[in-house]
Amino acid sequence: MSESQKFICDFMLGRLAKWMRLLGFDTLYHRDTDEVGILHQARKEKRMILTRSRALAEYENAILIKSEQLDEQMEQIKELSPIKTPFTRCPECNSKIECVDKEEIREDVPEYIYKVHNNFKKCPCCGRIFWKGSHYKEIKRKIDEITK
Ligand SMILES: [Zn+2]
Repeated sequence: MSESQKFICDFMLGRLAKWMRLLGFDTLYHRDTDEVGILHQARKEKRMILTRSRALAEYENAILIKSEQLDEQMEQIKELSPIKTPFTRCPECNSKIECVDKEEIREDVPEYIYKVHNNFKKCPCCGRIFWKGSHYKEIKRKIDEITK
């Protein structure tokens, strides 16, 4: 599988989609249950479909995700594709996040966060701001577990 493989997760795999983005994979989440829609989008954007549906997994460029458990799902992803660069994509909307000047986001984060952190990133699409707080550490621990 190529380094730049892009993915699209079916409606059953919302959590997996978020985690794949955190790991740096270009991953869309298809909220609707219709198979035509996800097949169309996957073909148009050359994305590999990740699905819990056996019927959908019959199609070319679709892979059946075997487990309901996130950890086991991630194990399967790890076998499919080398892990990309973690913390480069917005987990909410899949856009690439960018470093921002601290001053720029002063109004957008709680004051104590602004005081103790110096490095912030922002999603240019949905505006979400990221910093290496306690939530980050939790996610980092899980990512280390997945990528080890
Ligand atoms: Zn975003």
